[in-house]
Amino acid sequence: MPEPDRHDRELDAWVLAAVAELDVDGLKLGLGARELPVPGVAERAGLDERVVGVVADRLAQRGLVRLLDHADPARVVLTPAGRRAAADTPKPARAPAPDGSRFVFLRPAAPQGPAAPDDEQVCDFHPKRRRKGVLDDGGEHCDGSGWIVDPATRESRPCRCRPLRIARNRDRRLGGRITTEILNYGLASSLHPELHPALVPVVARWTADVDAQLDAGRGLWMTVAGWDRRVAADALDEDARPPRTQAEFEAAAARAGRLLDADALTDQRHREQASRAGGELSLMEVRKVAETAAGSSAAAIARAAHHAGRGVALYSLSSLYRSLVHLSRHGGYRERLDALRTADLVVLVGLDHQVLRRAAPWQRDWLSEQLELIAIGRYEHLKSTVIVSTGWPLEHLQEALSPETFHRLACAAGEPLPARRPPAATPSPAATVT
Ligand SMILES: [Zn+2]
Repeated sequence: MPEPDRHDRELDAWVLAAVAELDVDGLKLGLGARELPVPGVAERAGLDERVVGVVADRLAQRGLVRLLDHADPARVVLTPAGRRAAADTPKPARAPAPDGSRFVFLRPAAPQGPAAPDDEQVCDFHPKRRRKGVLDDGGEHCDGSGWIVDPATRESRPCRCRPLRIARNRDRRLGGRITTEILNYGLASSLHPELHPALVPVVARWTADVDAQLDAGRGLWMTVAGWDRRVAADALDEDARPPRTQAEFEAAAARAGRLLDADALTDQRHREQASRAGGELSLMEVRKVAETAAGSSAAAIARAAHHAGRGVALYSLSSLYRSLVHLSRHGGYRERLDALRTADLVVLVGLDHQVLRRAAPWQRDWLSEQLELIAIGRYEHLKSTVIVSTGWPLEHLQEALSPETFHRLACAAGEPLPARRPPAATPSPAATVT
């Protein structure tokens, strides 16, 4: 580890002093609570919370504080060594100014996510794995590595399970798994009766020969007016905050590293995190998607691509947000973004102008940025994108997304097309009373 330079030394000493002062305050007040929230430390230190996060991380590495970053907000606890160091280190006369160039908004590669699940260690063609009723063809299988080594020649050749492994890895990187529910709804409701007549042949082309559409990198953007929404719109998860600065990304990376080292996750928590990270839609969400003509068409397209063995993900706006925030805090963001930019097909549903409008400005800005990064990548790689949005006339969407993001998405998926036939004249209430 390189010797910290003056800039870092001063920042460290300043923040350590703030922690020590707050610790003493707590004692005087008889609070006994020695866990100091990072925002409080930042306030005392007169520094940006994100800068304090990085410094606290450094102090933790030196054993001067303990960082409780599972808590929200993260907390620090002064260690005995930290108390001694604070007493021995002269506090800088005034708050040091953090060097802006060290805290720029960049995205270093995040650490790897958790290792592959255990069942990946066994070959798909291993006799133990065969389901009942499947004929054991007695063919060869590997030791779980995906390769079969010839003991005589010492040469290895790919096992039959290797293409399956490659596809599974691809799908894991991409997230937004096409669940059984999506497949079922995609089958049950393809060519929804309420689909706009002009879109019927378009959607039919997609589902009949999805390979041709994906190979040509075609896109499809279906949008509906507010009256098509049968169910209340969902909202973005307000507790999920993405890291924004280089400093925060580094802190998140360090956290993720420790998390993996410590193996601190219980199974339950692990599963929860995996589902958040995976961006899978819940059954409720899938139902909601499938209730509209555009949503069920999108599910049918995703289904066709899935059965054609293509790399396909289906995200809702909120599941995309949830998943990217999670990954950017816990590792794997960069990998996911790359996968989203280059997969054969990304289906994005629930792009609701009202959800965007209700979101906090920082949430909207961050999400817009992610959508642009994905859209630009897909456009450049000539990959297919299908979007289902709520917003008509289009100005509603443009305004909620920002004209720039709207433009990028339209480059990737094409101009939005109205997806539902207009509602028939509403029967008068009297006519429906029985
Ligand atoms: Zn194998």
